[in-house]
Amino acid sequence: MRTPLIAANWKMHKTVAEARSFVEAFLPAVRGLEGADIALCPPFTALAAVGPLLAGSAVALGAQDLYHEDRGAFTGEIAPGMLTELGVRYVIVGHSERRTLFGETDELVRAKVAAAFRHGLTPILCVGEQLAEREAGRTEAVVTRQVEAALTGLEAAQVERLVIAYEPVWAIGTGRAATAADAGAVCRLIRDRIRAAFGDRAARGLRIQYGGSVKADNIADFARDPDIDGALVGGASLDPQGFAALVRAA
Ligand code: PEP
Repeated sequence: MRTPLIAANWKMHKTVAEARSFVEAFLPAVRGLEGADIALCPPFTALAAVGPLLAGSAVALGAQDLYHEDRGAFTGEIAPGMLTELGVRYVIVGHSERRTLFGETDELVRAKVAAAFRHGLTPILCVGEQLAEREAGRTEAVVTRQVEAALTGLEAAQVERLVIAYEPVWAIGTGRAATAADAGAVCRLIRDRIRAAFGDRAARGLRIQYGGSVKADNIADFARDPDIDGALVGGASLDPQGFAALVRAA
């Protein structure tokens, strides 16, 4: 049985002080809740402050990206070991904003997923089609290409631990979520592909989240689908009481 993961992607929001006050309000609001894993993914600059505040709680620390090299002349980048040193457990890889605004290719995403596993981090691999791709009937082809490219070279035991976030790009930050039926269908497609490539055990263990305008008042629809294992949440994760309500509703 898979435990759903509700992960907060704060994107480029929250200073260290703002991140601290979020955690101080959020932890009491979710204390004792069971049935879902929870992760907070602050900006890099707040990881060192948030990590110790989460210690001893059921809420895990995540990062929003990493670089695939361990060290070197890569100005501005963050190595996997720099994240693990701070207690980071999850790392978002291949978010559509990285792919579209910063030119991340399938090959770079693959290298980042591999680097995360090398360092014991759990990647949250984001995949999803653009609106024009959906309208052209290419959702299945795009998502399959992204998944297959990112998982090339992985072992079945790694895929079993992976998290995939299916995030249709047109649903991110738009207030226009996919229907649970559409999201569930794509998540099933991904799981079927994983089963064909890595076997039944990997397919049963892999968690597949939905992301894209998830809110406290629609999360329950996604949570009911047996192939959707939680959510990656952007805008609705920025307010501690609002995000706690969303986690409760999941
Ligand atoms: C995201 O950025 O991954 C996301 C899903 O954002 P939002 O919840 O704001 O659509």
